[in-house]
Amino acid sequence: MKKEKVILIGAGICGLYTAFLLQKKGIEVLILEANILIGGRIKTISGTTGVTMEMGATWFGNQHSHLLELLHTLELPYFRQHTQGISLFETMSFVPPQKFKISDSEEPSFRIKGGTATIIKKLVSEVGIQHIKTQTKIVSIKEENNQLIVTDSRGNNYSADKVISTIPPNLLVNSVVFEPRLPENFTQLAKKTHTWMGESIKFAVEYRTPFWKQNHYSGTLFSQASIIQEMYDHSAADNSGFALKGFLNAGTAVLSLEERKEKVIAQLTTFFGPEANEYVAYYENIWREELFTFQPYEQLVLAHQNNGHSLFKIPLLNGKLYVSGAETATKNPGYMDGAIFAAKTIASQF
Ligand SMILES: Cc1cc2nc3c(=O)[nH]c(=O)nc-3n(C[C@H](O)[C@H](O)[C@H](O)COP(=O)(O)OP(=O)(O)OC[C@H]3O[C@@H](n4cnc5c(N)ncnc54)[C@H](O)[C@@H]3O)c2cc1C
Repeated sequence: MKKEKVILIGAGICGLYTAFLLQKKGIEVLILEANILIGGRIKTISGTTGVTMEMGATWFGNQHSHLLELLHTLELPYFRQHTQGISLFETMSFVPPQKFKISDSEEPSFRIKGGTATIIKKLVSEVGIQHIKTQTKIVSIKEENNQLIVTDSRGNNYSADKVISTIPPNLLVNSVVFEPRLPENFTQLAKKTHTWMGESIKFAVEYRTPFWKQNHYSGTLFSQASIIQEMYDHSAADNSGFALKGFLNAGTAVLSLEERKEKVIAQLTTFFGPEANEYVAYYENIWREELFTFQPYEQLVLAHQNNGHSLFKIPLLNGKLYVSGAETATKNPGYMDGAIFAAKTIASQF
C-alpha cells in the first residue's frame, strides 16, 4: 500500500480547490470520490439546443469574495442574471399572480458563463485527473500506527498522514465508520448539521425561443400555491440557448417524474400562454435521492443549522482527520463561497 501524504475525500468544489492549494504548496494529494461524476453539488447538464442548465449550484453575488477571487484566478467569466421584464408572484391558486418589476438597482446575482461546471473542469485540469479516483466510496477510516487507513466499499485500503473529508457532516457520520470512534459531541453535532439544498428539487425546461422575454416577462416567478416555487430565466450568456429553471415544491418528490412534468408545464402554460407547451425537453434532479449528498436527519434540522460551528475547526483522530466542506465554513456556509473558504482554511494549516 503506497502511503499518501494527504487523502482528500470528495471531488466537489471544496475537495478540488483544497487539492489545488495543497499542490501549490508542493504537497502530494490523492482525491477519492464516490460518484462516477466529479463536481458534487455542482452539476451542469447540456440540452440538445446548446443551452447548459444547472441542476445544482448556480448563483453568487458581490459578497462572495472568495468565489469571485477564484473565478478571477482561473480566468472564468461570469454574467448578470437576467431579471428585466414582468415578474410574477402567485399567493393563492384561485387568484391571478401579481405582476412586479425588479429594479436594475437591486443587488445583482451572477452566473458563470458556460455553466457552473466550468469551474470544476478548470480545477480538474489544474489538479490533474490522475490524482482523482472516482467510483471510490469511502466506508471506514481507521487510525493505525500514527497514520490513517481509509477503506473503500470494495475493500481497497489507502494510507495517509492526514485525511481531509469534504463529505457533508450529516452524511459523513452516517456513512463512514471511524476507529477509534469520533467524540460523541462531534457525532451529535454533525447529525444536526444541515446540508444546504439537500432536500431540494431542481427543474429546467429547454425551449427553442425565449418566448417569455419576447412577451415582456423576465422569467422570474415565485409561487406559494403551485408546483414551481421559484424560477428564473436560464438563457445562455450569449443567448445561444434558452431555458427556464428553478425549484419545485420539495413535497412533490413523492410524485412520478411524469406527474411533476405535467404540473410544471401546466403552470407555465397558465402563466405564459400556449408557447410554454412547445418545450424541447424537461429535466429535473431530486437531491434527496442523491446518496452522496443527502442523508435524512434523525430530527428536524433547520436550513443552515450548525453550519460553520466552531467544533468543525478542531482536527480529529489526534490531529490527522480534518472535516471540511461548504457546511463547515465560518463564512457563507453551505454556498460555493463557503466551500472555497473552507478549502482555504484547511489548506492554510498545512
Ligand atoms: C440544488 C442546489 C442548488 C444550489 N444552489 C447554489 C447556488 O445557487 N449558489 C451557491 O453558492 N451554492 C449553491 N448550492 C450549494 C453548492 O452546491 C455547495 O455549497 C457546494 O457545491 C458544496 O461543495 P462541497 O465540495 O463542499 O460539497 P459537495 O459538492 O457535496 O462535495 C462532496 C463530495 O463528496 C463525495 N462523497 C460523498 N460521500 C462520499 C464517500 N463516502 N466517499 C467518497 N466521496 C464521497 C460526493 O460525491 C461529492 O462529490 C446549491 C446546491 C444544490 C444541491
